[in-house]
Amino acid sequence: MFSKSGKGKDVATPRICDVVWHDGEFIKWNDARVHVMSHVLHYGSSVFEGIRCYATKRGPAIFRLREHMQRFLNSAKIYRMDHEWKIDDFCDASVELVRRSGLELGDEAIEKGVDVCVSSWNRLTPNSLPAMAKSGANYMNSQLIKMEALLNGFAEGIALDDRGYVSEGSGENIFTVSNGIVNTPPLSSSVLPGITRDSVIQICRELGITIKERTIQRAALYVADELFFSGTAAEITPIRTVDRIQIGSGERGEITAKIQKVFFEITSGERQAPGPWLTYVSEQRARAANQPATGTADNDGNSKAEKSGGSSVTPTMETKLVARAAR
Ligand code: PMP
Repeated sequence: MFSKSGKGKDVATPRICDVVWHDGEFIKWNDARVHVMSHVLHYGSSVFEGIRCYATKRGPAIFRLREHMQRFLNSAKIYRMDHEWKIDDFCDASVELVRRSGLELGDEAIEKGVDVCVSSWNRLTPNSLPAMAKSGANYMNSQLIKMEALLNGFAEGIALDDRGYVSEGSGENIFTVSNGIVNTPPLSSSVLPGITRDSVIQICRELGITIKERTIQRAALYVADELFFSGTAAEITPIRTVDRIQIGSGERGEITAKIQKVFFEITSGERQAPGPWLTYVSEQRARAANQPATGTADNDGNSKAEKSGGSSVTPTMETKLVARAAR
């Protein structure tokens, strides 16, 4: 990818588990390979999901697994990818993978917020690449947004859509809070239909907070009382400045804190979710059909430290946002 010096730097592949689900079978990590001439490598013709697993008193619980897998199937349908799999196959495979990974840890909540910029790159136009499909190709756009932001000393970039309205971050949806009303760009602003975005919408409804999906001007970001990102990796991350302009008090806002609190209460299993949002891995029926892959494949030099860290299962672009020192 890139480094500050402009020299190339490899992005480490997060190792989640010693096995990989491949066409209905669990194969060893090292046996999961693609050819250098494969179509997906050259043309970005992949669809994928980034899903998170939380530590709860009832053991690891996958957050909104079914919704993620439905989006996965939708992405494949949009790109006319034929396959024989049903949503339950993918859900069962995920449960089994978490079971085999042995991941148990949790993550600390983000309190302080991050400094972000509006990107010079626009989000995809609806008639070029569908933002609602989570395809590999879309993430070249995300990488441009993210690299520019990092090189300029920001934690993340906010992309506008092709009309100049606010769209989303490189790997997160965005929310504004103004006069007690929570707003987020509609799907027509070229945003990914985020599962966390939907969770925030449902949490707001439950808390009696007015939530509106509406087009948002860039300037509305600067004058908002509060701003926050939502995403599987980012969870609920407050934004404290945009283009070096302080948002509200410059600290996590009251409504953001309220939503964040409820979100984490739900993900930790302490609070009843508005729906069946947690899949408790240890309480799912063990998947009998597939033979376990033999060996641990741990003798290849990949240490445990290469695992993704914490309980999150996230692809490279969707990393937790970190506050960066202002330039
Ligand atoms: N937008 C983009 C471009 C993303 O990559 C993500 C992360 N999947 C999101 C929004 C947030 O979606 P979710 O809440 O489903 O992780």
